[in-house]
Amino acid sequence: MGLIRTFLPKPLQGPALKLLILTRKAVFFGSRRYCPICRSRVRSFRTHGADRRPDVRCPVCGSLERFRFMWLFLDHKKDMFEAGPCRMLHFAPERLFEDRYRQISAVEYVSADINPDRAMVQMDITDIQHPDNTFDIIHCSHVLEHVPDDMRAMRQLYRVLKHGGCAIVAVPITAKQTFQDPSAATPAERERIYGQHDHLRCYGPDIEQRLNKTGFDVQCIRPQDFIATEDIARMRIEDARIFLCRKP
Ligand SMILES: [Zn+2]
Repeated sequence: MGLIRTFLPKPLQGPALKLLILTRKAVFFGSRRYCPICRSRVRSFRTHGADRRPDVRCPVCGSLERFRFMWLFLDHKKDMFEAGPCRMLHFAPERLFEDRYRQISAVEYVSADINPDRAMVQMDITDIQHPDNTFDIIHCSHVLEHVPDDMRAMRQLYRVLKHGGCAIVAVPITAKQTFQDPSAATPAERERIYGQHDHLRCYGPDIEQRLNKTGFDVQCIRPQDFIATEDIARMRIEDARIFLCRKP
């Protein structure tokens, strides 16, 4: 899909993407798995990542389990965006969610990334250049594991949120307890210890307490909170978690 967006003129991109999706839907058709993002029924998902996790990436749209769960969560929590004008900050914007947020007329949308080529504004999450109480909603998924001082980042998210606003936070949960190994100084060591070369720690479920310590009221959202068991298995989102962090 990246090739189509890079090499085809804009008027041809839409039809070319549609054709590609239709072709993939036909080629991978099956009944075992379902992707709620591209609404495809497929035989299986694909293997993904350096750790070769099997049966996770949608062969039609490329989504991973965390995208599928976030997508369903946003469907489930539609009312969050319908309460009136909403200032929103989206870190490390994933294209599919950026497109989705931009289509909501009440949302005044800003995306941010440490890399200036990847978002509307360059921003260090540990030094957010906005006044206190600026945003109604912040989306911060799979960012904190890349940040050296994650507690400082959480305090910044808290600071720029309005009272009553909320941050939608997700991280990979890959350990029983959050840990950081000071000896992991090179990409190869980080890949060995954390499973990915650009991760700086492994999180456990205790991330909830870390967010709580920052001042947030935290609600850990799990698939079983609003999705039927058989659908969770079909979409392969059993282990997905979202931390809904409200600033009181
Ligand atoms: Zn898909």
